[in-house]
Amino acid sequence: MIKLDYHTLESELEFTFTISRSSKSISKTIITEISYEYNGEIFSGIGEAVFSKFYGEDEKSVKAFYQKIINDKSLEDLDIFNIQDLEIRLEKYPYNYAAKAGIDIALYDIRAKILKLPLYKYFGLDKSKAPASSYTIGIADLDTIKQKTLTALERGYDILKVKLGCKDDLEIIKMIRKLAPNARIRVDANCAWTLKESLNVLTEIKALNIEFVEEPLVQSSSLEEYKELFLKSPLPLMADESCKRLLDIPHCAKYFHMINLKLTKTGGLTETIRMIHAARAHGLKIMLGCFTETNVSISAMASISPLVDFTDLDGALLLAKDPYANGLFQNNEIHLHDKVGLGIEI
Ligand SMILES: [Mg+2]
Repeated sequence: MIKLDYHTLESELEFTFTISRSSKSISKTIITEISYEYNGEIFSGIGEAVFSKFYGEDEKSVKAFYQKIINDKSLEDLDIFNIQDLEIRLEKYPYNYAAKAGIDIALYDIRAKILKLPLYKYFGLDKSKAPASSYTIGIADLDTIKQKTLTALERGYDILKVKLGCKDDLEIIKMIRKLAPNARIRVDANCAWTLKESLNVLTEIKALNIEFVEEPLVQSSSLEEYKELFLKSPLPLMADESCKRLLDIPHCAKYFHMINLKLTKTGGLTETIRMIHAARAHGLKIMLGCFTETNVSISAMASISPLVDFTDLDGALLLAKDPYANGLFQNNEIHLHDKVGLGIEI
């Protein structure tokens, strides 16, 4: 028998976080708690729904989804090891992927606890292969960016993801490269540039030794423009906004070199793992990403990170205080622990 509870969690961010299309200083997510009786013992799992208006969900829609699941008794008699049946039951309610991820994460936490395994072992992975995470520098004035970069470097974050898509793009990225001559630097434009602007900026920043660029093109660009950029880009291109679900993989392979997967878009670890393998078959490199969120959903993604090439799992590091912190990170390195499940105290 499954029992689902949920509540909103508001976390203050350490710095106001700005990207090309939005800005925020508070992160709001919904924490799920599921209890499940197995062989006469009650197990509890925790999950997190990281909703985003951009992907069509908000606090109200996530809560309405959970209430519907509870009212319809959709999961009540579920055998939680029957993941196939779980997916069929949830498919009755289309979309709501962030909300579904909140259930998916909590159920993986319980399955691993029942088997007395840390989640990465449940998936059969080698924890020494978890790639270190980048730390994101949001858009701000040049002085603030300078301060944030120096703070990040002091904390030992030597992989920086720089948000661009404003009037100072070239100045920002040149200044950060000067402040951090040895850091690995990636750029994310969040769909801010036209084809011409993309080619100009990418050509300029190529000399700064940038690893890759996420979603340069404005979303209204034509497929011909995406193709032209793919063919002419001096830097590898990563799909984020263009890559949500498994069916997007073949499309992304035509216009990008890499993809960024997030639980908010995929709906949970089951679909994320399917997408990782499909992406490999298409020759794409893979990053696991996040929004500003707690260590609950970050720990879930971290547990499958040995499967991918890059991680951008700094969501909880951007919070002023994370109630679910459990020492997952040492500087920007992911240290998967050996506590059962997600290893988070409920
Ligand atoms: Mg992105």
